[in-house]
Amino acid sequence: MILLIPGPTPIPNRVQTAMAGPLVYHRGPDFPALLTGIVEDVKRVFPTGHDVYLLSTSGTGAMEAAVVNTLSPGDSVIVARAGNFGLRWDKICEAYGIDVVIVEAEWGKAVDPDCVRAALVANPSARAVLATHSETSTGVLHDIEAIGKIVSGTDALLIVDGVSSVCAHPLPTDDWGVDVAVTASQKGLMVPPGFAIIAFGPKAGKASERSTLPKHYLDLSEYRQSLEEGRGPFTLPVTLLVGARAALDAIGEEGIDSIWERHARQASAARAATNALGLDLFAERPSNVLTSIGLPETIDGLEVMTRLREQHGVVVGGGLAHLRGRILRVSNLGYVVDEDLLAGIEAIETVLSDMGGDIEVGAGVTSARDVLKK
Ligand SMILES: *Cc1c(COP(=O)(O)O)cnc(C)c1O
Repeated sequence: MILLIPGPTPIPNRVQTAMAGPLVYHRGPDFPALLTGIVEDVKRVFPTGHDVYLLSTSGTGAMEAAVVNTLSPGDSVIVARAGNFGLRWDKICEAYGIDVVIVEAEWGKAVDPDCVRAALVANPSARAVLATHSETSTGVLHDIEAIGKIVSGTDALLIVDGVSSVCAHPLPTDDWGVDVAVTASQKGLMVPPGFAIIAFGPKAGKASERSTLPKHYLDLSEYRQSLEEGRGPFTLPVTLLVGARAALDAIGEEGIDSIWERHARQASAARAATNALGLDLFAERPSNVLTSIGLPETIDGLEVMTRLREQHGVVVGGGLAHLRGRILRVSNLGYVVDEDLLAGIEAIETVLSDMGGDIEVGAGVTSARDVLKK
């Protein structure tokens, strides 16, 4: 199977092999070097100078940690969102009794930073702005740099879901005024699902001192104390950490700049193919994590996905919520080689043509290959 999905992403062989080794004891003598090495190297991929903690949760657990460690019941926040993952911030905040002011853009568009500015002016007591860097449900990249310029001039924190963007796009937290950023193992980091990462800056640290939301498992002060001894407060997924070590070695060898560049090149190839096939690019401000392809009205996206999987061994993402069956989400996140992306595009043009789409078979692959050659 060729996986062109935004998580879990394909795992390099060396990561797989590393994880087949013997178990590491998380209270043993070798563990602190493993954990602190991973923490240091992960900082380079955001990049961030903030404190970084590893949590035994999926990405959503780190999002929840961001909320419970900085806010208190009755606080109000601004959620800037334009898709399904942005909606997750609402749900977490609502579960904890936080008042949410929504700044929304249509799915497929990005939230205008000026609307965030206006919301901050209208809600001066807002404690935080919560945003999504790459909105994985639509393929849109938010302008976190511009939002950061606005938020950093206020007392509010900027909390960013970088779950799918980290490794595909730079998320320089310190330069952009991002106080908290989260990501997860199964996305750009090329490790199976099972741990999340939270970068927690000094302004967030100040906020954590007055935060009274209930927390125990996700209480970052516990993680901070344990990390001083090179450990986590609870059992960390040791096998995944061995995999992460191998993945970060691979990232170090390729170089994070080259990895950002590879994601840009592959996403640009996927967009060129979409255009060449006369299909719609759904995202107005496209991310390099994935390419959302709007399908003609007459074609059922669910059927396309079934055929891709069964006849071509290609797995792509589909539309979520109201976009179900309407778009394909073709991801090049993580360890995707050019040949697999081209095979995926070739399979898509074949299936769409078989299903009666007005498609010039070969046009997508040809233009994608031209872009990849550059
Ligand atoms: C994958 C993803 C998440 C996290 O999902 P989990 O299933 O909890 O790991 C959150 N936000 C975005 C933008 C994502 O792509």
